[in-house]
Amino acid sequence: MNFMEITTRLHNYYSNPKTELENWENPIQFMVSVILSAQATDKGVNKATVEFFKHYKTAQDFANEEAETLSKYVSTINFYNSKVDRLIKACQYLIQHHNGEMPRTIEELVKVPGLGRKSANVILHVIYGITEGIVVDTHVSRVALRLGLTKHADKKDAEKIEVELMNIIDKKEWIFFSAATVLLGRYICKAKKPDCTNCPLNDICPSAFRV
Ligand code: SF4
Repeated sequence: MNFMEITTRLHNYYSNPKTELENWENPIQFMVSVILSAQATDKGVNKATVEFFKHYKTAQDFANEEAETLSKYVSTINFYNSKVDRLIKACQYLIQHHNGEMPRTIEELVKVPGLGRKSANVILHVIYGITEGIVVDTHVSRVALRLGLTKHADKKDAEKIEVELMNIIDKKEWIFFSAATVLLGRYICKAKKPDCTNCPLNDICPSAFRV
């Protein structure tokens, strides 16, 4: 497999892939969106955050509010109660340890309650354009498996998949590769019935038309 060829094809297909999370105006609101988006669609999160983010903007705003009140704004999102608890804890931690600001290293970000490596990478890529790793979510892990870039099929192996991808994808492409592959997995290489006919990788993918 020519790994350069994968990124070249993706560049031709996605000129400027971006997060589909909307409405956020600062790093704290973006982090809150990321927490809310676990096992939920970005579209559903965006619908809820239009109003939510008009009222809550800073780590202090979220941390000082009652969970019950915050929950009212996001009750249409899966697991909203536990997500509200997570975002409050994350904001409290940021106030306590980082003056209410978002840190800029993966090492510090993964210590924030409720953030794992995936979320930390997304925040670094989208907010700061900092490259420390590759985002491995359910879409990226599925695409990587189908392309034969990993043998790990279990979600629990996200960190192993990330290391494998970091070893084969040029570091200067990590941010682009993450964003493009999330979109490819979301809209083309879907879990059920991947759209191989319209996939820009269909003549180099070992799983093309076989899933
Ligand atoms: S060719 Fe099909 S299986 Fe391979 S990456 Fe594209 S959509 Fe996924």
